[in-house]
Amino acid sequence: MSDCLFCKIVRDEIPCRKVYEDDEVLAFHDINPVAPVHFMLIPKLHLDSLAEAEDAHVALLGRMLVLAPRLAKQQGLDNGFRTVINTGRGGGQEVFHLHIHVIGGGNIPPMVRRS
Ligand code: 5GP
Ligand code: ZN
Repeated sequence: MSDCLFCKIVRDEIPCRKVYEDDEVLAFHDINPVAPVHFMLIPKLHLDSLAEAEDAHVALLGRMLVLAPRLAKQQGLDNGFRTVINTGRGGGQEVFHLHIHVIGGGNIPPMVRRS
């Protein structure tokens, strides 16, 4: 059995503040939010990161992307939101179970600061 943190959340071994759940997908609030609304959508299937996604995962990933705006709206983000997928250490990923961050509700700065 996987000792991955998010797999433990999927198995209810670690509590989370749930936003949405179905057979394939779980969404829950980030424990250390960067904005008033910050939740993550994860596949229940363990994939280390987006770099491990294959053709077999197209439908699952598509479902997650279509769910994101629906859940964002349910969380009160009527005016838009940011989605972030950090991939690999080079992409700043810290938890190696694929997840989509959905962030909004505050003053969202430009994603990349140009000097
Ligand atoms: P990453 O940097 O991998 O894209 O994002 C991992 C995210 O998971 C971080 O924003 C972090 O705050 C969040 N996180 C880490 N541990 C936990 C936890 O135990 N529960 C919840 N809900 N979020 C967590
Ligand atoms: Zn996992």
